[in-house]
Amino acid sequence: MTEEVKAPKKEKIPRHKMPEQEPQVRAHNFEEVPFGYTKEMAMKEAERCIQCKDPRCRQGCPVEVDIPAFIRLIKEGDFEGAIRKLWEKNALPAVCGRVCPQEVQCEGLCVVGKKDEPVAIGNLERFAADYQRLHGRSILPPKADATGKKVAVVGSGPSGLTVAGDLVLKGHDVTIYEALHAPGGVLVYGIPEFRLPKEIVFSECDYLKRLGVKFEISQVIGRSETVDELLETYDAVYLGVGAGLPVFLKVPGEHFIGVYSANEYLTRSNLMKAYDFPNYDTPLVRGKNVATFGGGNVAMDSARTALRMGADHSYIIYRRSHAELPARGAEVHHAEEVGGEFMFLTNPLRFLGNDDGFLTGVECLKMELGEPDASGRRRPVPIPGSEFQVEIDTAIISIGSGANPLLTQSTPGLALNKLGYISADPKTGKTMKPRVWAGGDIVTGAATVILAMGAGRQSSNSIHDFLTFGW
Ligand code: SF4
Repeated sequence: MTEEVKAPKKEKIPRHKMPEQEPQVRAHNFEEVPFGYTKEMAMKEAERCIQCKDPRCRQGCPVEVDIPAFIRLIKEGDFEGAIRKLWEKNALPAVCGRVCPQEVQCEGLCVVGKKDEPVAIGNLERFAADYQRLHGRSILPPKADATGKKVAVVGSGPSGLTVAGDLVLKGHDVTIYEALHAPGGVLVYGIPEFRLPKEIVFSECDYLKRLGVKFEISQVIGRSETVDELLETYDAVYLGVGAGLPVFLKVPGEHFIGVYSANEYLTRSNLMKAYDFPNYDTPLVRGKNVATFGGGNVAMDSARTALRMGADHSYIIYRRSHAELPARGAEVHHAEEVGGEFMFLTNPLRFLGNDDGFLTGVECLKMELGEPDASGRRRPVPIPGSEFQVEIDTAIISIGSGANPLLTQSTPGLALNKLGYISADPKTGKTMKPRVWAGGDIVTGAATVILAMGAGRQSSNSIHDFLTFGW
């Protein structure tokens, strides 16, 4: 009688945790928090992918990266093959690997995640991009023959860079116009160094330059040149100018010195390097008692920046509870770890200041949660008589941003919605103005980097069809 031999059970590999700086160390520096996977960790993590025939993860990726294919290449140790595979669909893999909310996109749909933790797709994407940047040869993906068609991309944030990367590979002549003195848009002015080092963004822009994309910096389209003037030179124009107009609380006292919009605070500390004093002499109040108002990723970035700038207290004042925080869980966790002090169910009523015009405090009101509102979240309801004051010298307003009217007001023929965002076809990005496309935050309002990139992909497909077939 022969004995039945059972195949040995495959050893279960746990998800590899991203190594990162200790909280007590990173609370005092602006260096990136996670270190990234080593080669060995990446190859081992890649083994966790079961190479699904119907990869659900791809359905969660707005730019349709062939996720199982690039993970398989990492598993086989072909790291250059992995980055080439990523570049086929994504011009910004080092950025996406760092700031995409993978937990609600590719990783949120990963089949392994049904019974275990999902494959660390974002960490692997970051590994492939970083490995290429640090050790790779100067490889470039194949490019189509020159078409002789010219495209202007206004704005060098995630959607503009995606459009430029797609169209240059299809043989078109692409020029990006950027209003600030460095390319990257919100990636450089809005996201702090410790979450997305500028060097990473500039290196992704360099990759586009090597492909042939031209960058015109310090060019405010709508002022230095209008869209109509661009249309005299270019066959098509893409508007990806983001939504960078700060929104304020509209409470008394917002004029006091020490009250910033998150946009200004982060631009001064990030792009203008106020954090690197005395090497950079950018003026910024280095507050000891700082309050950030809001609960999104930008609020977490602001509160964490304030601590690194030397604050003793960095309060995060949010009108709903922990459960309703719109920020990514990882960002909330990082803010808590370095000492961010949350004040939930709290709403500001007015700012207080001294005779010299400096901010000295904020008066707040306690809230409780009522019935769900239009957003589906429970509405915060004021508790009468619960007013209290907090001593602060710096306030950072981080409750969202709006459409900047500079470009839209100087461009006749563009249709805008009631909030001032550009109306564009959601599938193609076509605007009401002939030969003009738009996408990203200037169409949808502030959203994520990857959604802006997805909008850029749809527009670049439509622009290519127009340039090739005339429709
Ligand atoms: S769903 Fe998960 S396991 Fe399946 S191919 Fe995608 S990453 Fe791999």
